Amino acid sequence: MFEKILIANRGEIALRIQRACREMGIKTVAVYSEADREAKYVMLADESVCIGPPQSSASYLHVPAIISAAEVTDAEAIHPGYGFLSENADFAERVENSGFTFIGPRPETIRLMGDKVSAKYAMKESGVPCVPGSDGALPDDEAEVLRMGRETGYPVIIKAAGGGGGRGMRVVHTEAALLAAVAMTKQEAQTAFGNPMVYMERFLENPRHIEIQVLADEHGNAIYLGERDCSMQRRHQKIIEEAPAPLLSTKLRDQVGEACAAACRRIGYRGAGTFEFLYENGEFFFIEMNTRVQVEHPVTELITGVDIVQEQIRIANHEKLRFKQKDIHFKGHAIECRINAEDPYTFVPSPGRISVYHVPGGPGIRVDSHAYQNYVVPQYYDSMIGKLIAYGTTREQAIARLKTALSEMVVEGIKTNIPLHQDLLRDLAFVEGGTSIHYLEQKLAAAKKAS
Ligand code: ADP
Repeated sequence: MFEKILIANRGEIALRIQRACREMGIKTVAVYSEADREAKYVMLADESVCIGPPQSSASYLHVPAIISAAEVTDAEAIHPGYGFLSENADFAERVENSGFTFIGPRPETIRLMGDKVSAKYAMKESGVPCVPGSDGALPDDEAEVLRMGRETGYPVIIKAAGGGGGRGMRVVHTEAALLAAVAMTKQEAQTAFGNPMVYMERFLENPRHIEIQVLADEHGNAIYLGERDCSMQRRHQKIIEEAPAPLLSTKLRDQVGEACAAACRRIGYRGAGTFEFLYENGEFFFIEMNTRVQVEHPVTELITGVDIVQEQIRIANHEKLRFKQKDIHFKGHAIECRINAEDPYTFVPSPGRISVYHVPGGPGIRVDSHAYQNYVVPQYYDSMIGKLIAYGTTREQAIARLKTALSEMVVEGIKTNIPLHQDLLRDLAFVEGGTSIHYLEQKLAAAKKAS
């Protein structure tokens, strides 16, 4: 096993990875920007290295600084966490070429999945259900594009092959608007992602977001750890995630899960990964793959008992998966609330010093957070300060525990979205389960109109 791992990330996930390492007897190196110098997890690490000023571009995204931190500390492997460099194939390549192990898929796989056109093609070939649309990038021939629009059926969505983070997409409702929309999206994609390629999909009007977690080793073994429902979103940002997905048949879950595991074997996937799907009228449609650990991984850990971060490390250490599909049993229900430092209704970020901090506890409660009393939430990074996760034998029990935990949680000195979570856990449609990805925005719009 590795003796020392460098964690190329910050915040709650840096702490989460550090804990996984400590449990396994692996030493850790924290890298930090000047804005994170005082963070407790930085001090808890065995070693720490400052990699630059607060701006991500000069620190957490600064590849040479991270590689040299690994060199001076003699770390053997680098865990990228999520966000930042985690899905950057060039970074993974630099890490491996510098003689370190990248804890994640091979650079070629990251590249394949990072281009949505090639990812979709590979998934379709592997038997994963995809959204109907253009097979590959849209051609220059306008008549052909119009024909594809008619074949796909309106509304359609034009998406950039290199897009991400909910950017580079445009919905088109009529044929009359198609060519102009394609031209505009191409131009924006060229500017934003340096790649003008766009493709077309049928626009699903009221889908849910359901994703499948997988683990695969480099010896050709792959399993799925079930699904997560992440439909509660605002501007494509997930805010509540749960496992299993309410009202989903286990037969369909197993069918899609098996297709994802088979796709992993086929493309030689390595590590933890997530297949994201839109789910509508009982059908799954693949939209993209995330080649890294996800924010919402704890809900899967709670219902399967598998430590996803530790498995990532074992896989990177060339080990065989310790589980076969038949060893994975789904038990109970888990729900996660992302706690953000922001106004609960305007969503304006609220960085600053946390003057009072109290975290809840009790049966089935897990808090993944790097925050503490007097911690200063920096203004430079995303606003998530932690995750509150509840496990219950049933969904009802998980909701009840989460409500109790939210009522106990105290964060003063900054604003948080705890009141929004409390509203949502009381919301009848959420309690019933199966709300679409538009539910939260519709609810917020209705509340605004009423006030
Ligand atoms: P990104 O990489 O930018 O997150 P995705 O392909 O995952 O892009 O799409 C982001 C979001 O856009 C989805 O979660 C969904 O809300 C919406 N979306 C994408 N494709 C479709 C589609 N075919 N129909 C309806 N909504 C879609």
